[in-house]
Amino acid sequence: MTGYHIDWQGVQDEATEILINYIRINTTNPPGNEMEAARFLEGILTREGIETTVYEPASGRANLMAVIPGKKGEKPLILLNHMDVVPAEEDKWDFDPFGGIIKDGYIYGRGTIDMKGKGVAELMAMLLLQRYRIPLKRDVIFLATADEEVGGKWGAKWMLEREPRLKEAGCVLNEGGCILMRDDGALDHYEIATAQKVVAQFVLKAAGKTGHGSMPHDDSATVKLIKALHRLVEWEPPVTIIPPVREYFSNLGTIKATKETSGYEDIEVDPAYAAILTANTQYNAMIKNTLTPTILKAGQKVNVIPSEATAAFDCRLLPGTSSEAFFAQLREIIADDTITITPMPEFESKSLPASPTDNELYDAIVQVAQRKDPGCVVTPFLITGATDSRFFREIEVPCYDFSPFRLRQEDHKLVHGHNERISLENLGFASEFIFEVVHKVAAG
Ligand SMILES: [Zn+2]
Repeated sequence: MTGYHIDWQGVQDEATEILINYIRINTTNPPGNEMEAARFLEGILTREGIETTVYEPASGRANLMAVIPGKKGEKPLILLNHMDVVPAEEDKWDFDPFGGIIKDGYIYGRGTIDMKGKGVAELMAMLLLQRYRIPLKRDVIFLATADEEVGGKWGAKWMLEREPRLKEAGCVLNEGGCILMRDDGALDHYEIATAQKVVAQFVLKAAGKTGHGSMPHDDSATVKLIKALHRLVEWEPPVTIIPPVREYFSNLGTIKATKETSGYEDIEVDPAYAAILTANTQYNAMIKNTLTPTILKAGQKVNVIPSEATAAFDCRLLPGTSSEAFFAQLREIIADDTITITPMPEFESKSLPASPTDNELYDAIVQVAQRKDPGCVVTPFLITGATDSRFFREIEVPCYDFSPFRLRQEDHKLVHGHNERISLENLGFASEFIFEVVHKVAAG
């Protein structure tokens, strides 16, 4: 529907070849080593005559920016993707996670979904824009970053501090949502993340007197920490429904069986219903501030009372909750002035409002989705993890986190897991989908 006669099977074959070689470049972070990946992408882009720059924020680390300029000076569209991947436990995989292996219509490998596959689909859109000399009203920027999986300090954050034109973008397409399929292969819905939870990790510390394990006393760090932990894990954070989440449930209410969803439109009214929702871990995380104790440390020797005991919490807040206010509330619950709460600033993120759904990129995704799957439900939602989009939302650049991959719940679980894979069909479909979206937003 773009007026160009593109050989989509050829595009899928080319994307497949590129992805196989991209997967073979091991960018496990840490350490990252994105430079080799950036040089690989640079080779493909410059061969087509696309203006491409590789940046080296730290030794061996790399970001890449490629630009196809637009004529009318409208705000740029950024196709954002990260080159680094999370570690793979190679002995738990059926295939070499960095082998770029194809079997039964799937490419297996770390990063096939998160997110080298999406990166390649975005790359294909760039190549097609260039090959067909499509006139553009705005710059289309392909931005491949380092370090997303470990906080983005050398990646998106670093690039935003150095490249002013990134700050002028009108919209960013990133990863987060997808096209969710039911187990029987039918479409469930499209979800586009417009917001993410706020990272507010912290360490709880109890201090006390040391002593011999044979003579317990009242000022024990371990006992104090256990009491504090008990109060925190027993506490039920209240249910809070922020606007994109309300919209999400109300949209799902239109497609799921009524017995599952009666009440989706109005979850705040019925607390009993909220209790049912919180049994689903994803829904629970979408409607509550969560605090998860993950690291406990105390003691070296069984007969010595340690003077210090700590617990680290992975805490994720809903947008709109301030971490200061939340920590103050936790102090009240703990009710022990000798216990300290220390935020872990290296992972902290800011509380940012959701990106608006009245943006041309959001509209374009909806329109292309309706053409591919007439009558489908497309909904905004909140992701519980963190992506590079937060650095753009911080400076009020709207971000839409969406990969046009058709995935079942179980496929989705392969992200960061074993045997991560993407079907060739999905890779081809995503390449076509993204090209059509980019064409809608930028051609003219
Ligand atoms: Zn990712």
